[in-house]
Amino acid sequence: MKAPQIVTTVAALRARVASWRSAGARVGLVPTMGALHAGHLSLVEETRKRAERVVVSIFVNPAQFAPHEDFDRYPRTLESDAQKLGPAADLIFAPAVEEMYPDGFATEIEVAGPAEGLETDFRPHFFAGVATVVAKLLIAAGPDVAVFGEKDWQQLQVVKRLTADLALPVEIVGAPIVREADGLAMSSRNAYLDARGRAVAGRLNVVLREAARRGDEAWGRQALLEAGFASVDYVAIRDAATLGPASGRPRRILAAAKIGATRLIDNMEA
Ligand code: AMP
Repeated sequence: MKAPQIVTTVAALRARVASWRSAGARVGLVPTMGALHAGHLSLVEETRKRAERVVVSIFVNPAQFAPHEDFDRYPRTLESDAQKLGPAADLIFAPAVEEMYPDGFATEIEVAGPAEGLETDFRPHFFAGVATVVAKLLIAAGPDVAVFGEKDWQQLQVVKRLTADLALPVEIVGAPIVREADGLAMSSRNAYLDARGRAVAGRLNVVLREAARRGDEAWGRQALLEAGFASVDYVAIRDAATLGPASGRPRRILAAAKIGATRLIDNMEA
C-alpha cells in the first residue's frame, strides 16, 4: 500500500500546504507522537471528512515529558506508522527535535484556565510543553481544521482555549475515544503492560462509568485501588469545558492511575 511522503522540515511542510491551498484544497492536521493505533487512525478518518488534504505530524515532544518520565523509551515506529496510514494521509510531518527546538529556543506558551489542576497537579510542566508544540505545529502547517482525541480530554480543552486566545485561524475538533473490546481506551502506552497489568487496565473504564453513575469520586478511587491499580492520581467530576467545579451539565469524569510505572488516563461523560 502506498505510504504518505514524509517531510522533516517546517519549510517543506509549508511549501506542500501552500501548493494544496493554491489548488483550493482544505487542509487538516492530526498531531500525534506516533506508535499509531486505531485511535489515531479514527482521527485521520475524521479529518478526511473535513478536509481534502490530511497531514499527520509525528513528533515525540521532549517538552511535555518530565525528566523521570518515559521520553527515552516512548515507542518510535515511523516506518510502520507510515504503512498504517497508507493513503489515509497525504503527508507525514516528522521533524527532528532540533527542527522544532533549535539552539537558543526560549519561548513557552502557558495556558491557565482548563490547564489548571488534574494533570497539572501531577505533571506540572505537561501543558506548557503541549501548548507550545501544538501552537508551533498549527502555525507551521496552517491547517483549516485540526482533530484531537477526547482520550486526552483536558488537553483538548487546553488546545481549544489556546487557539481561541491566540485567535489562530483553525477549527479544533474533538473525536470520540476508541476503545479495546473490554473498554480500555487505546493508548501507545498500553504496550508497556504485561498480562496482569493489561487485565487491571481493563477495569479503569468500568469503574469510571460506575463512579459517574454514583456521582462519587472517592468510591471511584477506592474501587481502582481494589481493582489492582498501584496508585490513583485523581478521579474527578468536573465541568466538561472549563474543568472547574461541576455545577450544571455537561460534566465529565476524569481519572489517572498507575499500574507499576505505567500511567493510564481515561474520561467519559458524567
Ligand atoms: P498521542 O500520540 O498519544 O499524543 O495522541 C495523539 C492524538 O491521538 C491525541 O489527540 C489523542 O487524544 C488521540 N488519541 C490517542 N488515543 C486515542 C484513542 N484511544 N481514541 C481517540 N483518540 C486518541
